[in-house]
Amino acid sequence: MATTTAPALFGPEVLDGKLFSGGWVDGKGRLATLEPATGDTLAEVGSADADQVFEAVRIASRAQPAWGAADPYERAALLLRAAALFDEHRAEIADWLVREGGAIPPKADFEVGVTIKELQEAAALAPRTRGEVVPEPDGKINITMRVPIGVVGIITPWNFPLILGMRSLAPALAMGNAVVMKCDPNTPVSGGFSFARIFEEAGLPDGVLHVLPGGADAGAALTVAPQVGMVSFTGSTAAGRKVGAACGENLKRVALELGGKSAFIVLEDADIDAASSSGAWGSFLHQGQICMASGRHLVHEKVAAEYLEKLAARAAHLPVGNPNTEQVALGPIINPGQFEKVSKIVSDTIGQGAQVLAGGEGKAPFFPATVLAEMTPDMRGWREEIFGPVAPVMTFSDDDEAIALANDTEYGLSAGIFTSSPARGRQIAGSLRTGMAHINDQTVNDDPRTPFGGMGASGNGGRFGGDANLDEFTQWRWITERSTPATYPF
Ligand code: NAD
Repeated sequence: MATTTAPALFGPEVLDGKLFSGGWVDGKGRLATLEPATGDTLAEVGSADADQVFEAVRIASRAQPAWGAADPYERAALLLRAAALFDEHRAEIADWLVREGGAIPPKADFEVGVTIKELQEAAALAPRTRGEVVPEPDGKINITMRVPIGVVGIITPWNFPLILGMRSLAPALAMGNAVVMKCDPNTPVSGGFSFARIFEEAGLPDGVLHVLPGGADAGAALTVAPQVGMVSFTGSTAAGRKVGAACGENLKRVALELGGKSAFIVLEDADIDAASSSGAWGSFLHQGQICMASGRHLVHEKVAAEYLEKLAARAAHLPVGNPNTEQVALGPIINPGQFEKVSKIVSDTIGQGAQVLAGGEGKAPFFPATVLAEMTPDMRGWREEIFGPVAPVMTFSDDDEAIALANDTEYGLSAGIFTSSPARGRQIAGSLRTGMAHINDQTVNDDPRTPFGGMGASGNGGRFGGDANLDEFTQWRWITERSTPATYPF
């Protein structure tokens, strides 16, 4: 681990079979957290079973009313202290993202930076929960107000574990909720214990936050625990469908942020060199393990040859290896199962006739930046989310065809459109069925101030960021008041 000036967050008292639920307690099980680049065990943390999740939810529901009734400026101040602590412990947390998550250092540092902004944004929202007073002629007053949901369950993935956890955690706490987080077993320290330790240091009252590493069973417990009012889930569409169904059955609000197969569209009037740089970033950053990754490159036929040449050249120059010991652009794939999945989709797609212009085959745990040309809409690599460093490229001949091809997917997360005419880009963006679209940029964009989310199989309409959080993490109440007692004909 790199040295930091601040005392270490993760000493043996935290890493030895413990999890955070009413203090640092023994997990029901133990979970080895591995370094994907080497296979080494970095630590053993506690893991929760369903019973431990239920117990955490009970503790959280007892702690929530006082937290929800606290002065919102106190909640804001606490979130800002947490932001300062993240900055103070930046190097140590980023190091864990590199070793446990397989991130290259700039990605890890960027992730900590956005996490800090999520806290600052949520702090600014904390005092802004509002209501309305609606008077009636007979002296009755209707009072409407947004109130906390109660206990919010958060289920996180491993790929951007800090940002994707914090974008729910910070606004949920800001709005006065207690939180039980079931963090991903691939990244329990960087994407779980970071939150627990920082909020502990910041002085969050006992019981308001619980961080429980665990598997699908522990996550599923959040969807049935009676005291949980909302589940915020970020992960695959397949798991999201199950979480959504269970939340429906148990009448819980649910925010689902799921998979993607985002189109990156390059028009014939675009700056092709810039487009190939953006396209490479959108497909290869963090080994393509990003929900918003540029999963389908749609390039006008007139510029396709130039684009492919430039994209393949960029891909071929991206070094792959252990980001903890070498200066690389791509680190390891998160785990052997994911590596197998990426390899199989790529080899199947090549078997279906795709042409390999760069990469194409990896040696576990490393998969090189891969460019696939001659793609057709029926190929696996075109239809399925790969979650690996792969840029499949298809051509089109006019804007209508580009729009039709881009919309030909069940997903609807993000889009990118490269053109020298922003107005034309906006027109195309307006025809795409995606929650987000970026003109003259690639598909991977996130900003704590703006509502993030997808359409179709990429989500159920939940939105995180900016003022959307005021609605997402609160619920309405209606209270009436009469100056004189009501009487009725009965
Ligand atoms: P995953 O669905 O396998 O796991 C995500 C989390 O859900 C983990 O914590 C896991 O333990 C838990 N989980 C799995 N099955 C569950 C169940 N039945 N009930 C409750 N919890 C369950 O996803 P992953 O492979 O870790 O992450 C990659 C996927 O996440 C990709 O599809 C990616 O596109 C998506 N993702 C989406 C966003 C977004 O904002 N839309 C962001 C990041 C990742």
